[in-house]
Amino acid sequence: MIASTCSLLMLAALDLPAATAAVTPDSRVIEMLEGVSREELEPVVADLSGATPATIGGAEYSFTTRSSSSGVPIDMAEQYVFEQLSSYGLDSVVYHEFPPESGAPPGRNVIGQIDGTTRADEIVVLGAHMDSYPWNGAAPGADDDASGVSATLYVARSFAGHSFERTIRFAFFGDEENAPWVCDEIGSAGYAARCADAGEDIVAMIQADAIAYDPPESEARIGELVTRRPSNDPGGGDQAIAELWLELIEAYGIAGIEPQHVPSGNNWSDHGSFWNQGYPAALLVAEERDHWNPNWHSADDLVSTFTWPLYVPLTQSYLALAAHLAVIEALPEDTGSRDSDSGPETNDTGTPGHEGGCGCVAPGAWPPLALLTLLGLWLTGRRRAAPARRLSAQRP
Ligand SMILES: [Zn+2]
Repeated sequence: MIASTCSLLMLAALDLPAATAAVTPDSRVIEMLEGVSREELEPVVADLSGATPATIGGAEYSFTTRSSSSGVPIDMAEQYVFEQLSSYGLDSVVYHEFPPESGAPPGRNVIGQIDGTTRADEIVVLGAHMDSYPWNGAAPGADDDASGVSATLYVARSFAGHSFERTIRFAFFGDEENAPWVCDEIGSAGYAARCADAGEDIVAMIQADAIAYDPPESEARIGELVTRRPSNDPGGGDQAIAELWLELIEAYGIAGIEPQHVPSGNNWSDHGSFWNQGYPAALLVAEERDHWNPNWHSADDLVSTFTWPLYVPLTQSYLALAAHLAVIEALPEDTGSRDSDSGPETNDTGTPGHEGGCGCVAPGAWPPLALLTLLGLWLTGRRRAAPARRLSAQRP
């Protein structure tokens, strides 16, 4: 009883589709999910990990490393991601420069954006990291984290041309292997701090990191969504994201993985930088306690080791979660009870202009009255009628 009441409150707070009720599949998302395949995901991973030469600036380049201290190679990785994103026709693609931790040249994150339509100031961030480890020698980093980069690029490519109520950012971070979640300015730490300083309303951040390997002897392909512990998750935003993820896997019939919500508070990737700023966030990752990737942080982290029956459905779950967090625009004929096999899709690509960047919602505490109001709205099945404070406004 208490648990279900809590989940209701969390969903109302995030204004997510009701995870306690059945999620209604969207025909356009179904189509996008059907497009996720090894053939779509492998080329980017192969390029970034050196299995195939990448085309960057019109010339071929072969990666042996993407270490954050490598100079030219990490610069080339950033440019590769920038060029890939730029080819999709998003609303904007920019570099976000961050200062070096010590002595090195400035690093760069790459940020692509689809502007939201009716709730453009509410932002969903999808992340992955471009750099690899070890810092010296060969560092192909296929699973860690070219797998997340390729999945995030795929979602961006799939979403281009569709309209979403919320703004979506595709964030590719540098310097993850230097643990930005315990630093101030590098990589995702610098970016999350910049968002917070600008008062940006990030309603959810999902990091995809190391999502492509499972030992051959595994009996179950376990994918995890790691969140903070409920007791350490003010407002329950992480928990609501995880509930939605589980519901979506079931609703869309995403098969082949055993999804697990792990509320451990493990902050060892770029999502930790967003937790540090008080934003709801979660990490999508292959199970790693009993299903450890022995190639991790070595010259053997190669695309040839991938477990495609894990990587493909995990990417599908990531795409579905992103589409529902960002709230794909209702179809013109939609009356609120969308049927998964409803008629032909028409996509409204005429998004209203948005400055991008700094749509602000003033930080503030979460008042119980507003919470009850939102719960009432949720219970009557109505969309939120007026702007309301949400979890992301609760920065410490
Ligand atoms: Zn990683």
